[in-house]
Amino acid sequence: MKTVVIHAAKDLRVEERDADSPGPGQVGIAIGAGGICGSDLHYYLHGGFGVVRVKQPMVLGHEVSGTITAVGPGVETLRVGDRVAVSPSLPCNKCEYCLKGQQNHCLDMRFYGSAMRMPHVDGAFRQALVAEAGQCHKLAEGVSLAEGAFAEPFAVTLHAVNRAGSLLGKRVLVTGSGPIGALCVIAARAHGAREVITTDVLDGPLAFARKVGADETINVADAPERLAALGTGKGTVDVMFEASGNGAALTAGIAALRPHGTLVQLGLGGDVALPQNTVVGKEIEIRGSFRFLDEFALAVDLINQRRVDVRPLLSQTFPVDEAVRAFDTAADRRHAMKVQLAFQ
Ligand code: ZN
Repeated sequence: MKTVVIHAAKDLRVEERDADSPGPGQVGIAIGAGGICGSDLHYYLHGGFGVVRVKQPMVLGHEVSGTITAVGPGVETLRVGDRVAVSPSLPCNKCEYCLKGQQNHCLDMRFYGSAMRMPHVDGAFRQALVAEAGQCHKLAEGVSLAEGAFAEPFAVTLHAVNRAGSLLGKRVLVTGSGPIGALCVIAARAHGAREVITTDVLDGPLAFARKVGADETINVADAPERLAALGTGKGTVDVMFEASGNGAALTAGIAALRPHGTLVQLGLGGDVALPQNTVVGKEIEIRGSFRFLDEFALAVDLINQRRVDVRPLLSQTFPVDEAVRAFDTAADRRHAMKVQLAFQ
């Protein structure tokens, strides 16, 4: 089978590997679609992010869907031919955090395509994958594998909404309109936000944000005064999702928040300055949001029922053999939103 392997920054290769067969409780999956995530791009462009570095060849990819081709002993819930979205999360289910229901904080997490541990955990950009049956969530008839591959990043934004608390009737600001920011718009809309405003430094991503329901978009490179205006009085925004990882967006967003407003940080950047006096003076709630819990199943349900439509966010699809071109395209934010690989 073909796999997409990162060796080092700017060294991405399509390589042949042997496929496994499913054991008890497992299924074999012909992967159909795989979305390129910001973290995949970090590995490709920079060899990692922060202290997480690629130290050995690793199969990338954690936003995938496919069709069941084989079922191991004891699997009752899935059949050959079922189309599924695959959760990339494999918590140990034994450590103190797993036992508290906080599996995203598992002390022994195996998350697809992650260099956080040694040896690295291989990802799912491959033509054939063996997964636990419990990782697989069935797609409804008429829902494409491409849509199914959005379940993972959408789950990330649903978790962020859970971290924020009720959005009913709220004015929401999303800073950064890449795939996660745009999916935050969809998640916020699905949760009763009254108004959703997004920002970016490029017009391309903002056009996608409008397509999926943003009421107002602000290009902060061209018109920073429009974002500053949201800070009128003591601020006009109830909840902010920071999806850019950019320090300037964090500062400007905090200025726009009302007293007791909530900031949910999703974007990864590094160490940035925090406007302490504003956080204190307006009693801002700052909350991180990391991966997801049960929100993966909710993401699949909402996509299956077409309660949300992620399709406008798919900008390009490349065959697996053109993985390098796909990654270069995904890295060009002027022209790409979500780029996917097709594996069959
Ligand atoms: Zn655990």
